[in-house]
Amino acid sequence: MAKEGSCLFRIGYFFYSRTRIGQIYHRRDIAKAREKYPDGKTHTTIQPFQYGDLTITPFPILLDNYSYILRDSKSAVIVDPGDPEPVIKYLKDNGISPEAVLVTHKHWDHSGGNTAMKQAYPNIRIYGGVHDNVNNVTDTVKDLDVLPFGDMRFTVHFTPGHTEGHVVYLLDGAPFGMSDSLFSGDLLFLGGCGRMFEAAPLVMLGSLDKVSNLKGDVLVWPGHEYANDNLDFACHLDNSNEESKNKYEWVKSQREKNLCTCPSTIEEERSYNPFLRTAEPGILEAVKVTEFEQPVTDETRAKILREIRTLKDSYKYKL
Ligand SMILES: [Zn+2]
Repeated sequence: MAKEGSCLFRIGYFFYSRTRIGQIYHRRDIAKAREKYPDGKTHTTIQPFQYGDLTITPFPILLDNYSYILRDSKSAVIVDPGDPEPVIKYLKDNGISPEAVLVTHKHWDHSGGNTAMKQAYPNIRIYGGVHDNVNNVTDTVKDLDVLPFGDMRFTVHFTPGHTEGHVVYLLDGAPFGMSDSLFSGDLLFLGGCGRMFEAAPLVMLGSLDKVSNLKGDVLVWPGHEYANDNLDFACHLDNSNEESKNKYEWVKSQREKNLCTCPSTIEEERSYNPFLRTAEPGILEAVKVTEFEQPVTDETRAKILREIRTLKDSYKYKL
């Protein structure tokens, strides 16, 4: 694709995100993933996590996406089934009949399964942010809406930046005797954050602050398996940060075994994720910001956020 920010990129992005051309592009991405992972292979081993009555299964799709299958004793919900075929096969093989699809944002790798899910499960409800023009939703959601399914209770948080109407879903852990769980889409990744396609850095900063201010024990379930590259960059950017070095070593060992790196926690993310550390000395030094007011203003933090994003986009990753 053309360089981000260029005129060509903006035109391409408009057609990808606003028209059915995006769907053609998405089909090509599915074909590429099938080529790389033939015969039902996946980028990550499927490994369900059990919390009391609740099972959370990070479900690997495409080249590096995660959909999530959540099931309690009464209901089942799917987050972002961007490639519906393997998701539906898994649901049928395991006798799961989902009640709802929760979509974080309109990009096709997250929303591209909506039509097929509706065809396979005609009574299913499909939820997407009211400001995001997500395809084929049955119900739009806004900030602080609460969605109950079985004993699962999700609160919607409006988190614009990656797209103008991006939302995240926070699952109340109390009924299952566990911490809350954040399905963060392309807002927050392990050690990173999504690109700011549709909003200014100050808007993205507000969304990142919103999730960073959640309780420290909240589990983070992101939309992509990007941990290895993100922590490689985090260690490069702020070499004095021991937390990022330790997490990077653990992530490398997980990925060598083809295992999932999520969930992390909000507390962990605050310790090593450079995009949540925009007021910290190690990061200010790394982006060579030497003059700033104390405490660091949001405007300064937004500039630092943009600078880190730019540095990351041009970073050459280790193999
Ligand atoms: Zn996206």
